[in-house]
Amino acid sequence: MAMDRQSGASVTVRVPAKVNLQLAVGPRRADGYHELATVFHAVSLFDDVRTRQVAPGSGISLTISGEGVSELPLDETNLAWRAALLLAEHAGVSADVELHLHKGIPVAGGMAGGSADAAGVLVACDALWQLGLSREELMALAAQLGSDVPFAVHGGTAIGTGRGEQLLSALSRGVFEWVFALADKGLSTTDIYAECDRLRGGKVIATPVVPPEIMQALRAGDALALGAALYNDLQAAAISLRPVLAQVLEVGEVYGALGAIVSGSGPTCAFLAADEEQALDIAVGLTSAGVCRTVKRATGAVPGARIVA
Ligand code: C5P
Repeated sequence: MAMDRQSGASVTVRVPAKVNLQLAVGPRRADGYHELATVFHAVSLFDDVRTRQVAPGSGISLTISGEGVSELPLDETNLAWRAALLLAEHAGVSADVELHLHKGIPVAGGMAGGSADAAGVLVACDALWQLGLSREELMALAAQLGSDVPFAVHGGTAIGTGRGEQLLSALSRGVFEWVFALADKGLSTTDIYAECDRLRGGKVIATPVVPPEIMQALRAGDALALGAALYNDLQAAAISLRPVLAQVLEVGEVYGALGAIVSGSGPTCAFLAADEEQALDIAVGLTSAGVCRTVKRATGAVPGARIVA
C-alpha cells in the first residue's frame, strides 16, 4: 500500500450488512437517541467502497452503482462523503479523493448499508492517505458518523450498548444460514423509533439488556435455539408503518424458518434457516408468495470492513 499520494493509487474496501439478532430499545435520551442493548451480526451481503487518489485540491467526488442507487445523494449529504471529510479534518490533510460505492446491501433496508459505506470510506482513506490511525481513533470517528458505523468496521458478532456504538465482541461458533426478504420501498429509521415510542407510551424498561439465551445459542452454534431467541423491539413499529411485513414474516415461518424477524428498523425481514437446503425452500416460498420485491441468501458471521485486492 506504500504509494505516492500523487500516483492515482486505489484502495477498495469490502463492508458487510448487519442484522440485529436481538434489539432491546430503552427510553429516549435527552440527545434524542434511544438507549439500546443489541446483538449485531455481520452477514455476507456487501458494499464495495473504491477510493482513488486524485490531484491535491481536487476535493471529493462520489459515484454509486448497484441496486436502488437512484434514491441516494451524490453530495456532502451522503454519509460516505461526510466520512471522508471527517477523516481528513481529524488527520489534518486535504480531503481529495474519488469515491465509488458499489451497493449490494439494500438501501434504507434496516441493514446499515449507509453506515457500511461510511465505515468503508474510513478504512479505505486511512490506507489511501497513509494515515495509520489506530483502531481506537477509527472507531471514535465511526461513532461520530452514526450509531451503526462502528459495528460495520468491527464485523463478526458483537453486543452493542449506548446508542449502539459501544461494542463488545461476542463468541459465536459455526456458520448461520440466512434468507432476507427485501421490500420495494425503504423505511426511515427516525420514523420507526418515533413510532416505537408512540406505540409503547410510557411503558419502557429503563435499562435494556441482552438475555443470556441468545449468547448461549451463539456460543453453542445452535441455530434452533438462536431462531427461538431472535427478538426486535422495533418490529411492532415497522409492522405498524408497513402492515405487509406481518405477512412476509408468516410466509417465512410456514416454509420452516427457525426464526423470523424484522431486520433493525426494517423493512427487510430476516429468516434463519437450519441449513442451505431449508434456506433455498424459504427463498423459493417467499418469491412464489409474491410478498416482497426480491429475496437474498447470506451467511453469518463475516468480518467487518477490510481491504480487498
Ligand atoms: O445514528 P444514526 O444517525 O444512524 O441514527 C439515525 C436515527 O435513528 C437517529 O436520528 C434517531 O432518530 C434514531 N436512533 C435512535 N436511537 C438509536 C439509534 C438511532 O433513536 N440508538
